[in-house]
Amino acid sequence: MTRTLTTRSASELVRADAAAVARADAVISELSLPGDGIPVTDPATGERIAAVPDVGVDAALEAVAAADAAGRAWAATTPRHRAALLSRWHELIVAHAEELAHLITREMGKTLAEARGEVQYGGDFVRWYAEEAVRPDGGFRGLPGGGASLVVTRAPVGLAVLITPWNFPLAMATRKIAPALAAGCPVVVKPATLTPLTTYYVVELARRAGIPEALIQVVTTSRSAAFSEAVLRDPRARKVSFTGSTPVGKQLMRIAAEGVLRTSMELGGNGPLLVFDDADLDRAVEGAVAAKLRNGGQSCIAANRIYVQRGIADAFVEGFAERLASASVGSGFGSGVAVGPLIDDRAVAEMDALTDVAVAAGAELRTGGAAYDGPGSFFAPTVLDRVPGDSRIANVEIFGPVAAIQRFGDEAEGVARANATEFGLAGYVFTENLDRALNVAEALETGLVGINQGVPSNAAAPFGGVKQSGLGREGGPEGLEEYQSVRFFNIARRETR
Ligand code: NAD
Repeated sequence: MTRTLTTRSASELVRADAAAVARADAVISELSLPGDGIPVTDPATGERIAAVPDVGVDAALEAVAAADAAGRAWAATTPRHRAALLSRWHELIVAHAEELAHLITREMGKTLAEARGEVQYGGDFVRWYAEEAVRPDGGFRGLPGGGASLVVTRAPVGLAVLITPWNFPLAMATRKIAPALAAGCPVVVKPATLTPLTTYYVVELARRAGIPEALIQVVTTSRSAAFSEAVLRDPRARKVSFTGSTPVGKQLMRIAAEGVLRTSMELGGNGPLLVFDDADLDRAVEGAVAAKLRNGGQSCIAANRIYVQRGIADAFVEGFAERLASASVGSGFGSGVAVGPLIDDRAVAEMDALTDVAVAAGAELRTGGAAYDGPGSFFAPTVLDRVPGDSRIANVEIFGPVAAIQRFGDEAEGVARANATEFGLAGYVFTENLDRALNVAEALETGLVGINQGVPSNAAAPFGGVKQSGLGREGGPEGLEEYQSVRFFNIARRETR
């Protein structure tokens, strides 16, 4: 089948439920934002829904000063005190889950069902770090040669600059803010200008929970490079935690090197998903659909390159393409919608170009392959089979609902092709053979592996990448350590008996 469609009619899209949109807008008016500044648009309609302050460098440095001052008192509080406030914050997130979910769908586009899932996931980080706050790791050791004892202890690293992307506006913020506060650090948070509203709202809930207002400074700016140049070079900043693309992460690491800042970098992915002949077909199809279509494919752990072993390939591709062809597209506020809009028209143009180039290189279009007429930024869930390994789509992060399938022969070939990338965030393996599952999971050069499942993230898990996908971990006990400096006291000991 060659590519025949280039656009689909917007009338095919599922429309929004007006009451749900009105509910989201009521939450936006609660935020009391200024009338002008950086416009925020709804990607499902293209309509301007709010504007947030466009903060300059001076005001950003004032935010640093205010957070730093508040941080001194915060670092001196007890872990129990911090835990209690974080627990209260979590309770408010749960109590306001619907407000948060509606806001996420309105500014980011994902379906309301997925937005509710993000609220649960994002809230879980706050609960997890409320629990972790009271369990700071430490130790007491004798020296091998005697004569002294060591107390190993942890201190808050200091002011943390947190920079988040647009694709999970709540979870990416709480995954950083909660461990920083639990460890005793003040924060300056810069959300993506495409989706800043959720951050404002969840930080407002933190204030209502009693967390000191100055401790979490939200800075929105259209001049992100000037922001990072000024704020990361300020000696009060001791840590930068960034989630976003690899090129921006590298720039931030260069600046961070000047002040020797602690860095956590959650960067781009190019996740392989391997389906072996001995996989349970239904489980593999379901897992691949989840790993590809979650957030409309706009996830750093999306299944970016799908490798299917030859014996199961035809059956897998048929089942998978059927599922994507029947996934309904439309407003995230529409009933039964599985795939919402992409974040903007640039993303739609990128899906279009990737599909075109792949088809021209010999890939078979099994379903989709079309953008929709506006308004809104929509692209049909697309399956490309027999994608040539050297085509562009097989080598870049797709970040949309386009699945690129390649076929492989034996396990060694599958693993070698999966690892042939400088990225290493998520990988997936589908097989009913336990030995193979573990052997392949170990062989994959990624920070995390989903085995027979497409949604591996959890607040309890140490999320993060290897290779150019990043440094550091978020979630789990490891996520707290990112905001702590390890110290030791060497206590001289004299024999007294
Ligand atoms: P991006 O790198 O363009 O932007 C991320 C954030 O950085 C935004 O807030 C943006 O305003 C800001 N930014 C951009 N340039 C900056 C600069 N010079 N100084 C300071 N801040 C700057 O990425 P994006 O398009 O928002 O997000 C998509 C990318 O994020 C993908 O590559 C995806 O894989 C990655 N991502 C990674 C993870 C992870 O956990 N590893 C999670 C989500 C997204």
